[in-house]
Amino acid sequence: MTEHASPIPFNVPSLEGDEQAYVLESMTGGHTSSAGPFSARAAAILQEATGAEEVLLTTSCTAALELSAMLLDLKPGDTVIVPDFTFTTSALAFARQGARLLFCDVEPETLGLDPAHLAELLDDSVRAVVPVHYAGIPCDIDGIREVLRDRPDVALIEDNAHGLFGSWNGLPLGSFGRFAAQSFHDTKNFVCGEGGALLLHDPADIDRARVLHEKGTDRRAFMLGQVDKYSWRDTGSSFGLSDTLAAYLTGQLEKRDVIQGKRRAVFDRYLRDLAPFAAAHGLQLPQVRPGAQPAYHMFYVLMPDQTSRDAVLTDMRARGIQPTFHYVPLHSSDAGRRFADRPTECPVSTDVSGRLLRLPFFNALTAEQSDRVVAVFTDAALAALS
Ligand SMILES: *Cc1c(COP(=O)(O)O)cnc(C)c1O
Repeated sequence: MTEHASPIPFNVPSLEGDEQAYVLESMTGGHTSSAGPFSARAAAILQEATGAEEVLLTTSCTAALELSAMLLDLKPGDTVIVPDFTFTTSALAFARQGARLLFCDVEPETLGLDPAHLAELLDDSVRAVVPVHYAGIPCDIDGIREVLRDRPDVALIEDNAHGLFGSWNGLPLGSFGRFAAQSFHDTKNFVCGEGGALLLHDPADIDRARVLHEKGTDRRAFMLGQVDKYSWRDTGSSFGLSDTLAAYLTGQLEKRDVIQGKRRAVFDRYLRDLAPFAAAHGLQLPQVRPGAQPAYHMFYVLMPDQTSRDAVLTDMRARGIQPTFHYVPLHSSDAGRRFADRPTECPVSTDVSGRLLRLPFFNALTAEQSDRVVAVFTDAALAALS
């Protein structure tokens, strides 16, 4: 391992198929705004993979979550339960529509929503629950659904930003709730710069979702020949993804097996090469339960404490490799405190936030690069733990 070897960044988006040709085709084809031919192609792939009744491409996953929040018709006093350990917009989207938030702890095995804490938090004010499949590893979706069994009034909304093409007991992640939100931000498995999608599983939501998605108009129904002119019907926003970005996305989604295969190889190699070291030194690696098919979004290591985690981050960066930490617990943030309905205890989220380190992870990461990451990581970890 030489110190002069080229740096290994945390993430590198890559072209995997016909992205460039499709983008050019879109730019010269006469339809670059939303709801064009490539949007239909990308949405069809997502629909086929998840069984969604309708797929609306959006400018981001955040926008998709905001659209889902609008469809909930939240009233003053309503609350939404979100994981404490997640990206800000899993929570922000609902706060923006007026909900108060309840931050739910995560469970140590999957780092997804903890059904036991969920059961404690669930009261009559709750309108929605927003699980995340952290790292693309299915959360305890059965446990969550069991807690919600007698509450059909509570919407299950999967923030599936990490989980596309993963599954639980053969059922696709993103297929379990009333809505699921996808991200195509350039840090995710499938990218188009910035983009997202809202998957709808309840046919009763479709007409209104299309109106909200189309700036409050029934333009979509007009395009489908269902009405003979279109006009302002409801609230909404300009949620639609440009068809040129949908062209980029189509090129990516068509290569889903190739992309997921590459990411699986990266994940499996890290797991294989780090498992003995982790076992010997008390580190925790991602755990994949029987029945869980991960989406291979990332690879993380839980160090024994924050001091060793921070030391390893600094040491690896000094040696040209870019690992990174992840979410700061939402309950501890300024806005989290402001939008919380009441303070909640999230000890696991606080604990893992201080100890978690993510290794470089991207489609084109080579075996040689992986070997260097593992060598530098184990070296840095030994130094930090001694
Ligand atoms: C990336 C991410 C988002 C936001 O996605 P955008 O497309 O950037 O809006 C939301 N939730 C989770 C869990 C994410 O990882």
